[in-house]
Amino acid sequence: MEHQSSPTPHVLIFPLPLQGHVTPMLNLAELFCLANLKVTFLNTTHNHKRLTRYTNTEARFACYPGFRFKTVHDGLPDDHPRAGASNVKGWLKEMIQALASNGKSLLREILVGEKETEKVTCLVTDGWMSFANEVANEADVPVIAFRCPSACCNWTYFCIPKLIDAGEVPFKDDEEMDQLVKNAPGMDSFLRYRDLPSFCRNQDISSCRDLQDLFTGEIQRNQQAHSFILNTFVDLEGPILSLISSHCSKVYSIGPLHAHLKYRLGQNDDITLSNNSTSSLWEVDRSCISWLDLKPDKSVVYVSFGSLTILTKDQLMEFWAGLVQSKKYFLWVIRPNLIIGNDQDTQAQDGLLEGTKERGYMVGWVPQEEVLAHRAVGGFLTHSGWNSTLESIVAGVPMLCWPYFADQQVNSRFVSEVWRIGLDMKDTCDRTIVENMINDLMERKKDELERSMDRISHLAKRSISEGGSSYSNLNHLIEEIKLMSK
Ligand code: UDP
Repeated sequence: MEHQSSPTPHVLIFPLPLQGHVTPMLNLAELFCLANLKVTFLNTTHNHKRLTRYTNTEARFACYPGFRFKTVHDGLPDDHPRAGASNVKGWLKEMIQALASNGKSLLREILVGEKETEKVTCLVTDGWMSFANEVANEADVPVIAFRCPSACCNWTYFCIPKLIDAGEVPFKDDEEMDQLVKNAPGMDSFLRYRDLPSFCRNQDISSCRDLQDLFTGEIQRNQQAHSFILNTFVDLEGPILSLISSHCSKVYSIGPLHAHLKYRLGQNDDITLSNNSTSSLWEVDRSCISWLDLKPDKSVVYVSFGSLTILTKDQLMEFWAGLVQSKKYFLWVIRPNLIIGNDQDTQAQDGLLEGTKERGYMVGWVPQEEVLAHRAVGGFLTHSGWNSTLESIVAGVPMLCWPYFADQQVNSRFVSEVWRIGLDMKDTCDRTIVENMINDLMERKKDELERSMDRISHLAKRSISEGGSSYSNLNHLIEEIKLMSK
């Protein structure tokens, strides 16, 4: 009997078009390419232009013959900042709706494929875009949901409908904020109201339900997916992963993805590892590396609030003053559209600029992984975005957390209270507190934070190395996808 070889599995990857989603999903795409899977990566036209302009992404994937990009319009006007706008939730919802109406027919075309060999084996879709799951269901293509936030945040999102029913959410932004949340299994001994996602605060019940639908409704809708991918590792979030597994089909924790990709590229002699390979949607300013080169070991605080956070002028001034008063060196990412509002206090600003010249360096966007890995960086003042948290863990840099929204409130509580690899400065923005907490991070609590961070950083690296949990989970996931194509 003639032996028929099974077709090469073909994965369609569709991220929510935000920096914190595109980066890990491109890393996943490359991991699939290394396993000889065919991959189609669906970008928005806008993001694709930015990636092409600011990075070597096209060259990075040119060595994989089974890889291709496709693009779809995101439905926002060309001059929309797509980050840092004050009404993030408004335009995010608008963008997801526009993507749903622009993207469905293209999705259908790609899923079915013009030729039999192009037919898609499975759709790996961002857990935020369940409309894509509907199209895949119609085309009889299995869906794997990629959930970008931490497992602890995903689990919190799972719990929120129950918290609303129990009357615990929404709650008022007052003295009750430090009480423990009652209906949060696995977290009720340390999770306070103030650690819940910011949309749980000060809303009337109907606005809260509306936001809950945007942030957590998707996770409920994703429960029908074939499986879940999480960018985390068992040694970090094992107990929470077990809770999630009891509600979902299969859960593959395969992170930290950026480190996992580097490890597997290192194992592959055919691919040259490029140090400058980023997925940045902003132009990277590398001058910060030469500035860091001149600083003593672990002497610099790296400050970045990610791609979406916005600061008022007042908040900017408080951080600035705290940093200058701490007398530490600091490297601060001032992204375009980071700051909103006006402040007349130009004199104070000039005074601060003086202090900044001696110790500070500001840039628009940095190669963050490289910065965190630099020997001169000793601490990270962060908004607790999940990618930034994982990158800090892998680099072994303790954090001072100032969470802004969504998953960040939960992440910062786990960082400070559960993993003990950083300090939590949520809900306050005062120059004296900033100064004191930076000194705690860089001096007074430095040794204890570094001890826990070294341990967790080691576990992260072990998990993505051959035989580690994330390494094995990724192999199982790839096997599962291969079985789907048979
Ligand atoms: N980032 C970067 N350069 C910067 C600031 C951020 O490359 O100057 C990257 C960072 O490495 C991370 C991503 O932007 O991978 C931010 O994702 P995260 O989940 O931390 O936060 P978000 O932007 O989604 O709030």
